[in-house]
Amino acid sequence: MVRIANLGFPRIGARRELKKATENYWKGEWSAEQLLAAGRELRERHWALQKEAGLDVIPSNDFSFYDHVLDISVMVGAIPSIYGWKGGPVPLDTYFAMARGSQGEQHDEACAHGHHGEGHAHGAPAQEMTKWFDTNYHYMVPEFSKDQRFELSSLKAVDEYREAKALGYQTRPVLLGPVTYLKLGKSKDAGFDALSLLPGLLPVYIDMLRRLAANGAEWVQLDEPCLVLDLDDATRAALRAAYGQIAHALPNLKIMLTTYFGGLGDNLDTALSLPVAGFHLDLIRAPEQLEAIAAKAPEGLVLSLGVIDGRNIWRANLPALLDRLEPVVAKRGTDHVQIAPSCSLLHVPIDVSLETDLDEEVKSWLAFSVQKMAELATLGAALAKGRASVSAALDASAKAAAARKASAKVHDPKVAARMAAITPAMAKRKSGFTDRAKVQRERFELPAFPTTTIGSFPQTAEVRKARAAHAKGAMSDAEYEKFLREETTCVIRWQEEIGLDVLVHGEFERNDMVQYFGEQLSGFAFTKHAWVQSYGSRCVRPPILFGDVSRPKPMTVAWWKYAQSETKKPMKGMLTGPVTILNWSFVRDDVPRSLACRQIALAIRDEVADLESAGAAMIQIDEAALREGLPLRRSEWKSYLEWAVESFRLCSTGVADATQIHTHMCYSEFNDIIDAIAAMDADVISIETSRSKMELLDAFRNYKYPNEIGPGVYDIHSPRVPEVEEMTNLMKLARQRLADSQLWINPDCGLKTRKWEEVRPALVNMVDAARQIRLSH
Ligand code: GLN
Ligand code: ZN
Repeated sequence: MVRIANLGFPRIGARRELKKATENYWKGEWSAEQLLAAGRELRERHWALQKEAGLDVIPSNDFSFYDHVLDISVMVGAIPSIYGWKGGPVPLDTYFAMARGSQGEQHDEACAHGHHGEGHAHGAPAQEMTKWFDTNYHYMVPEFSKDQRFELSSLKAVDEYREAKALGYQTRPVLLGPVTYLKLGKSKDAGFDALSLLPGLLPVYIDMLRRLAANGAEWVQLDEPCLVLDLDDATRAALRAAYGQIAHALPNLKIMLTTYFGGLGDNLDTALSLPVAGFHLDLIRAPEQLEAIAAKAPEGLVLSLGVIDGRNIWRANLPALLDRLEPVVAKRGTDHVQIAPSCSLLHVPIDVSLETDLDEEVKSWLAFSVQKMAELATLGAALAKGRASVSAALDASAKAAAARKASAKVHDPKVAARMAAITPAMAKRKSGFTDRAKVQRERFELPAFPTTTIGSFPQTAEVRKARAAHAKGAMSDAEYEKFLREETTCVIRWQEEIGLDVLVHGEFERNDMVQYFGEQLSGFAFTKHAWVQSYGSRCVRPPILFGDVSRPKPMTVAWWKYAQSETKKPMKGMLTGPVTILNWSFVRDDVPRSLACRQIALAIRDEVADLESAGAAMIQIDEAALREGLPLRRSEWKSYLEWAVESFRLCSTGVADATQIHTHMCYSEFNDIIDAIAAMDADVISIETSRSKMELLDAFRNYKYPNEIGPGVYDIHSPRVPEVEEMTNLMKLARQRLADSQLWINPDCGLKTRKWEEVRPALVNMVDAARQIRLSH
């Protein structure tokens, strides 16, 4: 029989119960017993949901109190000595110390989406955290030493398997595979090669697999998403060695080897040569690989077909899917095919039926985890008993797909007409940078090394309280507006007082840099409960981009006008760029991403034009997420960067020479994309550099990057207040690499997650640093 499988269920809980439980525990309000009980309750509920949905293969050990990669570090005893672990079972507090630092300080969150978090406790700092492949989920980066030793130090996988079994569920435990796990790790030791640790790691994995088998597990799911990346021969050899040894040690345990987030491409032969019982492929990201694999896969290999999108929220067109699946099932045999989501459902929300305020039409096109499981069940039934057995569900699915395709909510002929009228000239400034810079210098008369900030100022408890009260209706529009005006004025006065050259309004009216714009654009929908885990207890609710995008009316002009009316200094208009809006949303799957991005670019272009007409002389368009949108495979970078850069240009180049376009990017790797950055042609770019000793400016120097740059001199991810001298030293390093006339002075990123007590002295020092540098200039 064709089996219906899941690879992982979201852990956070439909009402974010896990968030509440862990945070209560961290605050000391809950005991460890209470926390553990909350975890058990969630697991039991999720197993029951999957059983009720009719799944044949239900995962266990997909649950985690913080992160599944951290769980493996703890399982294999890869625990750096600073956490004071002396062997034996790893205590819960050691686990959370690795996640959050030993003083239990929350990860900082300068970029609403959780980038660059790092604990800065006085005790042991948290482990580093970074993005899980091309998702918005962040994992804890394993940290190895050169002579790293491993030992089995957590039986979580066995315990959860047994827990499920006691409840009557035969589950398929999930573990991140050993090769991907090592490749995700890092070491501070020179000459370190992660794969050299494999021989020491494998016995621990084999020990764990033996225990799972001894407890009754027939199948284990090992995730090796590294198989969709560009791999070198050493990694391929490591995969062969690892799975060869596992098969040798456990000839009767069936391994479902999963790959996701892309196609196998040139790793196909390696993958198919591994001695495993089952193989999972992502047929959403790489549908084209189905036929080749079905033809090439050894007889008897169970193919798990990932046909339900685990990364997006759209309903599938089930009859269309069956057209593709039926021939494969006929060819491979019903016992050798499983139907599954493309990847773990970790990346989608739980239940769309909770969304009572969502537009009914849009809602009818959506499927979250619960709905996706029902889709899987329908597919399973159709394959087992024929389409007629589930004809109503299939009809409903086809109807929803057709309705979405034809809906006037999705297609706006005015947008289509504008898109068709885009000309190359629209994505080009009128003059080159040198000419623009001249006009702009005359217009602004800024001192050398102008100082500015990135946009947001501390979102204090008061600001958040007012926003919540306004959202609940407890604070009237007028009162809220008045409150925001006062906050804005206050931050403007203060910036003037300390002597910043270019001001910002503080972004107090914004909940989130993407949501704020999404809520004002047509084509976006917002949810109430559709949370997706970003890291640890942090969750985001990505906007849903469902249709053609346009801007019914100005979004930021009134606030900009108010702010500028409060000062004679230049006030930057502040916008989020199209690529970032796209990358932080659930995006429609009926048009290419490039097209959706271009539509957003046109809407932002309108806003830029309106800001300019209102008098804004400097407009900043943040592209925080441009780099993280890079495809996993190098071969696809070029085309992504082409349309991403074109979209940025389309939104930013419609202005006069004298209007200064700023952009901001909060990351620090530019080497491999420097041509694209230069092609964006922003007059001024601010970037994150304070932690890298300005070394990343080498990329700009080597490229002979001509435009202006504000390299961050204040690490806003830390509560530490930088001294004047630290910042003058950093600028010294910057001046060794770039011309004085190119340089601005600013923090690494926005200040919204910092406290005023930190921001005040830090910016006073920053302005002081600028004064000192000017003296020596
Ligand atoms: N203007 C935004 C801010 O300061 C930029 C944040 C970001 O790029 N992540 O908050
Ligand atoms: Zn930033």
